[in-house]
This record gives sequence, structure tokens and C-alpha cells, in this order.
Amino acid sequence: MAVKGTDIVKKLPDLGKKNCKECGFPTCFAFAMKLASGGATLDKCPHLSPEVTEELEDALSPAIKLVTVGTGDNALQVGNEEVVFRHDKTYVHPTGIGLLISDTEDSAKVDEKIKKISDLQFDVVGINLKADLLALKCDSGKKDTFLALVDKVCKSTGVPFMLICEDADILLAARDICADRRPLLYPVTKNNIDKIIPAIKEKPGPLGVKADSLEELIPLTTRLKEEKIDEVVIDPGSKDLMEAINDQTFIRRAAIKQGFRPLGYPTIAFPGTLAKGELKEILVASALVIKFAAVLILTDFDEFGLRPLLMQRLNIYTDPRMPLSVEEKLYAVGEPGETSPVLITTNWALTYFIVSAEIESSKVSSWLLVKEAEGLGVLTAWAAGKFNGDSIAPFLKRSGVEDKTKTRKLVIPGKVARIKGELEDALPGWEIIVGPREATEITGFLPGYAAKLKN
Ligand code: SF4
Repeated sequence: MAVKGTDIVKKLPDLGKKNCKECGFPTCFAFAMKLASGGATLDKCPHLSPEVTEELEDALSPAIKLVTVGTGDNALQVGNEEVVFRHDKTYVHPTGIGLLISDTEDSAKVDEKIKKISDLQFDVVGINLKADLLALKCDSGKKDTFLALVDKVCKSTGVPFMLICEDADILLAARDICADRRPLLYPVTKNNIDKIIPAIKEKPGPLGVKADSLEELIPLTTRLKEEKIDEVVIDPGSKDLMEAINDQTFIRRAAIKQGFRPLGYPTIAFPGTLAKGELKEILVASALVIKFAAVLILTDFDEFGLRPLLMQRLNIYTDPRMPLSVEEKLYAVGEPGETSPVLITTNWALTYFIVSAEIESSKVSSWLLVKEAEGLGVLTAWAAGKFNGDSIAPFLKRSGVEDKTKTRKLVIPGKVARIKGELEDALPGWEIIVGPREATEITGFLPGYAAKLKN
């Protein structure tokens, strides 16, 4: 629940009436309003007491904390969400998908899983989709066995990881092997929290807090908050899918609608504990991607389970206000040369992928110019004035297509045949060819057209 400027101003010096202007704003009220909208930071006012600063920092922080697991380019960030429903605005940090490795699995299986997490990557609409972390679990109860696994994984991959062990001594010993990689430590429970707190204050890093219910979770996160530890993900210990959906929904609503800080953390769930069998596990994970889980740890997956789950995540975490788009540039489809056809379309991802797939199907290597049009389809882009002679001509000139081909014929989508004249005026020396209206007609059109180009 966002804090209001009118509430902030009451906390400023002299109840917001000092108006000394040292923050760069004409009044305390103006500063408070900017703070509330995220346009200013607290450090601009030099007259705030440490207590008020802390109180306002807390009030201004996101309803759901941002948590970072790992370091560098591979780090996984979850949380920081501002809305309950995706259509209210957008979700910002996609659910982290993790793969579990138990220290009771044999060496070959461990190697297979390490390889799997780096090999199973999919490019979809120009976006790389992949799982995000490894979760190393101590099932053996043996310190040496678990530490050997952690050491091995730490040395063999750069992906972020999570350490899971009920025994806090083993968990912290494992953490010490790789503390600089900021692993997520799990579970912090009412039984081990006293041991974990000093260790995490000494070497800060993210924690996974687990309880058997929401009610038991709240005192644990409250205690951590008192200790100024708030890089936390929470596990309400749901017993089945229905309970998990209820818990996840309650947590999200309490954090965002009610501003209830003890539950203002990203969540973690283990679909394998809610359903048995790989397919059911993926289905449960799919439901929890929709219903607010920030981290999901799977016992195993293959391409056929992971790919649809990642697609699901892509759909849920795509900003509904922004059409998916691809980069504006000249694309080579196949291995085009100097006499290959040149076509143009807009940068709506769906348009680009359908058109390029149809060109590939025609087996005629071609140059495809993709014009930036704010992710709109051809006809809509034309209607919005983003796909016409005036905008296409300068793009074609800077695209470099004239250096790559001797062809001076440009195929435009049949739906915008009306821009042929203005485009020829804007592109002297180019002949504009009106191509098929529908992408599906490209395979019938291109072979004959390419043959004519060569003659
Ligand atoms: S610096 Fe602080 S006290 Fe002065 S006007 Fe700004 S908010 Fe008010």
C-alpha cells in the first residue's frame, strides 16, 4: 500500500512547516509529494532524525522486498512487486525457477543436472528463457557429503544457488564455502533462528524462512526485521495446491493491499511436495507462477516440462501495456546475397516471427527489414503514422541494406499497398513491390519473385 505525501509531510521537520528549501524544493509539502511518487530521496533533507529517516525508509520501501540471490550478471532478483494483479500494472521480477540436487544423488546425476541447467535454454521472440538457480539439499544428514556437493557445484557453475539443510550447523558450514556467491539459505525456522541470526549478520545474504502456517511465519519475519535482516523469502508451509494458492494469495494481498510488513516478502514453494510425478509437478508450478510464487524449486525437469513453464512465466511477466517487440534492424533470413529479395515489416514480435518463419519455409534466403513501430502490427502501425514513406525511407537508408544487396526493389506488405507511391517518392532509385497481404502467402510468392529478380 503506497504511502501518501500527506502522511509523509507530517513526519518532516516542524510537522512539515520548516520550509527551509535546502532539499531543493520550495516547501516541505512539495518534497513530501515527490518522495511519495519516487521522484526524490530522503537524503536530500538534512534535518531528519535517524528515527524518522528509518521510519520513512520503511514506509517508502516496496510492499514486497527485493531479494537478490547470487552475484553479478547471473544474480536472481525476486520481489519488489507493486500490484496484486498483472493487469493492474505489471509484474516486475519473474518467478525464479530452480532445480533441486540432493546430496544423495549419485555423481552422474549431479553432473547431469548441472549440465541441464545450462543446456536447457530457449530463445523466444528474441528473449532467452532458462531456469535460474540450483537448490542443493542435504538429505544425507552428513556434513562431509553435503559440503562436497556444495564445493563441487560452486566450482562447476556460475548460476546462483540455494542451500537447503535442516541442521543449521551444516547449513552455515556450507554457506561458508560459498558466502561470496550469496546463496539463499533455507530453512530458517523457529528452531534454528537464534543460531542463524548472528551468522547472517556476520556475513549478510538472503534467507528462506519456513513455518508450518502463516500465523507461525509472522513472528519469524518480525524477529528478523527487528534484527534488521530483511533479505528474506517466505515459505508458509502449504500442504497441498489449494492451500498453497490460498496462502500465496493471502500473502500478496496482505502485503500490497494492507501494507502488512511481516508478510511483505517474496515467496518460495516446492511443487514436488504438493504433487507427485514430473507432469503434475510442472502443472502445480504453472499454477504457482500465476499465483504469485517468487521462487519455485523443482525436483527435476526436461525440455518438455521446462519450456512450457518458462513460456507461462514469460506471458505472466510481460507488461500487458507493451506489445512484445523485436529490435529495429536488417535481419538476414537464411543466407541472403546481393541479389536476394528485400522485404519489410514492423517490429511486433508476432509479425516478425511469422514473417521470418514463412520466408524460411519458402527456402528463399532474403533480407528482412524490421521497422520500429512501437510493437504494432503492420496495419495498426500504418494507421498510427509509424509505417509510411516518411519513416521507412530514413530507416532503410541507415539499415545498411544498400551495402549488402544490389537489389533496389523493396517488397512491402500487401495490406499497406497504399504507401507504394509515397515510398517511391521518398526512396529515389527504389522500386516498391506490393507483396502478399497475408504472411501465409509468402511461401507461394517468394520463389517466383526471387527467380524474376535473378533474370
Ligand atoms: S530540507 Fe527538509 S525541512 Fe527543509 S524544506 Fe526540505 S523537507 Fe522541509
